[in-house]
Amino acid sequence: MKKWAGIILAGGSGSRMGSATPKQFLELAGRPLLWHTLRAFSESPVGQLVLVVPGKKHGMERAGRVSGVRPVEMADAAESYVERCRREYVGEWGFEKIAAVVEGGAERYDSVYAGLNALRGSGCEIVAIHDGARPLITAERITASCEAAEIYGACVLAVPVKDTIKRADEELCAAETLPRKQLWAVQTPQSFRYELCLSAYDRMMRDPALLRGVTDDAMVLERCTDTRVKLVMGDYQNLKVTTPEDMLAAEVYLRARKEKGIS
Ligand code: C5P
Repeated sequence: MKKWAGIILAGGSGSRMGSATPKQFLELAGRPLLWHTLRAFSESPVGQLVLVVPGKKHGMERAGRVSGVRPVEMADAAESYVERCRREYVGEWGFEKIAAVVEGGAERYDSVYAGLNALRGSGCEIVAIHDGARPLITAERITASCEAAEIYGACVLAVPVKDTIKRADEELCAAETLPRKQLWAVQTPQSFRYELCLSAYDRMMRDPALLRGVTDDAMVLERCTDTRVKLVMGDYQNLKVTTPEDMLAAEVYLRARKEKGIS
């Protein structure tokens, strides 16, 4: 559906993974992690994708071995990520929905803004913003997210927290136990009416005070518009790969899906 667009964020360095290769390009179940994310979107009704990749030349990347995780080989150290991702994901793997591959920025919101700018004039009505580092997203949850954005204007996938959550004070002592029934862990996609999201980001990027502490897209809408952000049930498997143990968990889930014939 041309009206629905996706922004796939793969512009981070993934420093918490402890690997020289950004985590989204590490090998997971036989393919780069990002491939799994793109495949879910290619199976969804989303009509066009903007892929946001690291801006700098990657130079001589040599990933150390991290818990058995192998880096995907770099074909040519002089090639930028934009060139490389166009060649691999559009050219070789044939992800035809990728309409643009653009450079991200220093912060996640800079990368989102680069993606939103690439969609100006595209005619899209809904934009689903997704962490490339969440390879277990499904076409079904992407669809649910876009449908909710059509109804509510703004929504995030989220799951009820399972653990008791405490706020710690400066001495790392429990200061407060938060009421668990009200707490949800927020995931992506976070989906919005495109024009609403773009105008919220335009406003935030002009005002440094609004940028402070922004960790997700819903916060931008909360700060810059009066639209209420709807929570849509996510999926506990839709984890964000951040540290090496997340790679192991993601691999187990992917293999289990394969055995069940889900992917
Ligand atoms: O760092 P974190 O895991 O929160 O990043 C979430 C997603 O945003 C990842 O897929 C990462 O590649 C992307 N990102 C980005 N540009 C940045 C930082 C993160 O595209 N500057």
